[in-house]
Amino acid sequence: MHILDSLVIGAGQAGLSTSFHLRRLGLDHVVLDANPRAGGAWQHRWDSLTMADVHGVADLPDAPAPGRSHDRANEVVPSWFADYESDHGLPVIRPVDVHRVEDDDGLLRVTAGVRHWLTRTVVNATGTWTRPFVPTYPGIEVFTGEQWHTADYPGPSHLAGKRVLVVGGGASAVQFLGELAPIADTVWVTRREPVWRTDDFTPEIGRAAVAMVEDRVRRGLPPRSVVSVTGLVLREQEREAERLGAYRRRRPMFSRIEPDGVRWQDGSCEAVDVILWATGFRPAISHLAPLHLRSEYGGIRLDGTTAVADARVQLVGYGPSASTIGANRAGRRAAVAVSTFLESDGLTATG
Ligand SMILES: Cc1cc2nc3c(=O)[nH]c(=O)nc-3n(C[C@H](O)[C@H](O)[C@H](O)COP(=O)(O)OP(=O)(O)OC[C@H]3O[C@@H](n4cnc5c(N)ncnc54)[C@H](O)[C@@H]3O)c2cc1C
Repeated sequence: MHILDSLVIGAGQAGLSTSFHLRRLGLDHVVLDANPRAGGAWQHRWDSLTMADVHGVADLPDAPAPGRSHDRANEVVPSWFADYESDHGLPVIRPVDVHRVEDDDGLLRVTAGVRHWLTRTVVNATGTWTRPFVPTYPGIEVFTGEQWHTADYPGPSHLAGKRVLVVGGGASAVQFLGELAPIADTVWVTRREPVWRTDDFTPEIGRAAVAMVEDRVRRGLPPRSVVSVTGLVLREQEREAERLGAYRRRRPMFSRIEPDGVRWQDGSCEAVDVILWATGFRPAISHLAPLHLRSEYGGIRLDGTTAVADARVQLVGYGPSASTIGANRAGRRAAVAVSTFLESDGLTATG
């Protein structure tokens, strides 16, 4: 079987950036992507998310990102990625859903269904979208209304006129309240008091947030999202919801879920039609389990993008690089780390 220098899993921003740099370094690789078409997680974002709503999509290496517009993000970004893959001749194979990466006599065997690849290194770029997180609350299984997660948010028109409980203290919850409050009856619950940012988002604030997540990952702790530590902002499109009091009507978490609503900590009940879980995502890394990369603290300890437990494995779009700008930079760093690893072992297929 042909032995690759590297194999990238995932063709989102992180995987494409990595592939660009591996190619530039002359490394023999393929990119395996579970999606049927280009676009990474962006192709699955909800229809009402426009390029004016996103916080900003960073450039890919050698390709400026599409600008702000009222066009749908789930169309604009995938079409940009598709052009990028073909313009740069990136070796993406799809749909291939990798379910296992394991050691095979010093090499790495990557398995997807009945297909296998052998490679010297792996760059994991699988993002988080395929692992939506919903916390467990007593009674969740008896609720008779609708439950949605950010990953399958049906859009505002489906929820118009309903009483919607939005759970979560992140940017997605703020956006959902922004578009739902004018057309639905909303209640917002968060575990912690939301931290609002009223000052400008300076590069220093961004760097400090990334450094904080980087430190967690270096210590092997589960990463927190970069966005979660930069604080929340209200933008022009959320002002109407703010005026309607959507962000003031916030309550601490309920104690349990009832068939027709939730029970608050003080014992009182509130009826709701819908629970919208804007409770985030976890890294999609279960296929790496056979490599035993997790530290005793539950996260994967990284040195830069390299897994400390196995230098053949890089993780990009994970922890501090889980943003479009971070993913981009991590792609370059991972490709260089792969090249250095192969050179140190005298292993490059191409040189
Ligand atoms: C709602 C939302 C809005 C966001 N908005 C912004 C924003 O405005 N600006 C910003 O910078 N960041 C934003 N982010 C974060 C940002 O989207 C990601 O960090 C960034 O796009 C990096 O993507 P990625 O390449 O790591 O992952 P993804 O885009 O998720 O790509 C991962 C790819 O890997 C594939 N994959 C997963 N598992 C497997 C497997 N086992 N085998 C094969 N393939 C697999 C997936 O199918 C997918 O194609 C947002 C995130 C969310 C959830």
